Amino acid sequence: MPEGDTVWRAARALDRALSGRVLTRTDVRVPAYATWDLAGAHVVETVSRGKHLLTRIDGELRWTLHTHLKMEGGWRVLRPGQRWPRPAHTARVVLETADAVAVGFALGIVEFVARDDEDSIVGHLGPDLLGPDWDADEAVARLQEHPDRAIKEALLDQTRLAGIGNMYASELCFISGVAPQTRVGDVADLSRIMARAHQLLDQNRHRAVQSTTGDLSRGRNLWVYGRGGRPCRRCGTRIVETETGDEGRRRVTYQCPSCQPA
Ligand SMILES: [Zn+2]
Repeated sequence: MPEGDTVWRAARALDRALSGRVLTRTDVRVPAYATWDLAGAHVVETVSRGKHLLTRIDGELRWTLHTHLKMEGGWRVLRPGQRWPRPAHTARVVLETADAVAVGFALGIVEFVARDDEDSIVGHLGPDLLGPDWDADEAVARLQEHPDRAIKEALLDQTRLAGIGNMYASELCFISGVAPQTRVGDVADLSRIMARAHQLLDQNRHRAVQSTTGDLSRGRNLWVYGRGGRPCRRCGTRIVETETGDEGRRRVTYQCPSCQPA
């Protein structure tokens, strides 16, 4: 599942390629929009809100194209005629201008809403870690509304704060020396975790490789995520990998039992 910084990079790529341009061809490969043609409409901008992408398009009406990468999705910006990097049958949206083709592959959500109804999509989100209105105090207050929840699950709840996925949730617990199962009410310093979360996403949004350790080389860039059974980088204890969540929403959690005692 992509993290907020990955979504922010996708928004920036779309924004740079399409904003201010007129669409010359569109293809929305979702049954509800199969007959839609936005050729001639004008792309205003693309922004991210948490893990949601909002592409604002003005035609006869003011639309917002809402897309979400979910598990496997990705947007690619290509030159006209350039070979697509993923199979054509996985494409869900094609937005073409005179000098760019943006293709959304395997998107989890594709829908159009009226511009004035954007709140119906993103109004439920907590403060956005990469938004201009990031508010750490508000995020802490929202986390504290449910003191009995496990901290890692709470960090993933986009209505508390928006932008954290499974990788950052595990990494933040490690960096903070907190076991993922710890009750939110028992976490000593939520503000510090918020500050660290903001710092990590803010730094990594400009990098091709996400790093929480400060080391940008692949294989050394993360503390615990994806490292089950291997030695902790701090203390050498084996990293424990556990599966949590319901069927269909399983998530793997990584933890050093020594650095993050239960
Ligand atoms: Zn350790």
